[in-house]
Amino acid sequence: MAIDPLMPVYPRCDVRPVRGEHCHLISEDGRRFLDFAAGIAVNILGHSHAGLISAIQDQAATLMHVSNLYGSPQGEKLAQRLVDLTFADTAFFTNSGAEAVECAIKTARAYHQHAGNEERYELITFNNAFHGRTMGTISASNQEKMHKGFMPLLPGFKYVDFDDLDAVKAAIGPHTAGFLVEPIQGEGGIRVASDAFMQGLRALADEHDLMLVLDEVQTGVARTGRFYAYELYGIEPDILATAKGLGGGFPLGACLATEKAARGMVFGTHGSTYGGNPLAMAAGNAVLDAVANDVFLASVVEKGERIKAGLAQFIGNYPDLFEQVRGHGLMLGLKMKIESRPFVTHLRDNHGLLTVSAGDNTLRLVPPLVIGDAEIDEFFERLSAGAASFTPPENA
Ligand SMILES: *Cc1c(COP(=O)(O)O)cnc(C)c1O
Repeated sequence: MAIDPLMPVYPRCDVRPVRGEHCHLISEDGRRFLDFAAGIAVNILGHSHAGLISAIQDQAATLMHVSNLYGSPQGEKLAQRLVDLTFADTAFFTNSGAEAVECAIKTARAYHQHAGNEERYELITFNNAFHGRTMGTISASNQEKMHKGFMPLLPGFKYVDFDDLDAVKAAIGPHTAGFLVEPIQGEGGIRVASDAFMQGLRALADEHDLMLVLDEVQTGVARTGRFYAYELYGIEPDILATAKGLGGGFPLGACLATEKAARGMVFGTHGSTYGGNPLAMAAGNAVLDAVANDVFLASVVEKGERIKAGLAQFIGNYPDLFEQVRGHGLMLGLKMKIESRPFVTHLRDNHGLLTVSAGDNTLRLVPPLVIGDAEIDEFFERLSAGAASFTPPENA
């Protein structure tokens, strides 16, 4: 039997979207779905945002790509905006989240090695983390399902339990370069780090001259109701990886850093052929036009609270199915008492609602940030009907 022309690494379902309309997807066979998956927290402006579409169309017709050999007015503009909006002094643009994390790892190592501390190369990372699928980023996670078949891993990562500050303290040694952490573990099951943990990491980094590196690939760009989730904790990182929502569907990521943290990232140390090309910059600028303002951020908080309150009430009706609602803004998780995957499938196939399963038996809800009241009402109708008609599989 011949291998599928699309390398068969994904168990693709039979929903085959061909068109997007705001917060809905229409499949090849004409079915219509409410999209609370949003391309896994990517399509923050939904599927037919006029500003994003025209920015990409105009830039495509003007200048798409020139490489990083030339000056970039488009890149300077987006970098300046990110610097003005965040802790950062500088940005490196990438095409994906994993590449943004790779740049963050290199920046943290270079911080120490540039100063002659060759021995400080190790990042402390966290159990059940997800940082991407490159060799470096799978090595940064303890998840064996991502390692199998790809050994050996890259050295330089030490895993400890998430949200366990004592474990972090015990793991710090002469090789430690810093910490790499998701403020809210996304793939890991919408697990929210405590204030004490995040503030403790900041204090440890200051005390030991270590880099606090945040993976905000999923939590970033208004997803939690803050522009970046570190704002929820009243701390600032040294280095941050961002992607997913940043291009609103156009592949775009960035590694942000303070001037101090980026001291090793000098001429010739890093690069990317496509990274930050004019087309990607147009998409990123259009996304920021829409989301990087207090009114938009407040709307995410308000919608998130409304959905969270509704979910808390809803799960009370199904104590055998659901355990807990967690998350911030429009990055929400329903922790289930059974495996979440069959329920995700049931909602999709029988109730036209797209969600994403995550670790720790969690149903992940990451809708476009532009959802309105009508979509929220529709969500609760579909979810309630789905829960009422659900029979868990025998072995779940
Ligand atoms: C999705 C994700 C990544 C990887 O992003 P890609 O664009 O798939 O490479 C890394 N870190 C986190 C936290 C993510 O959610």
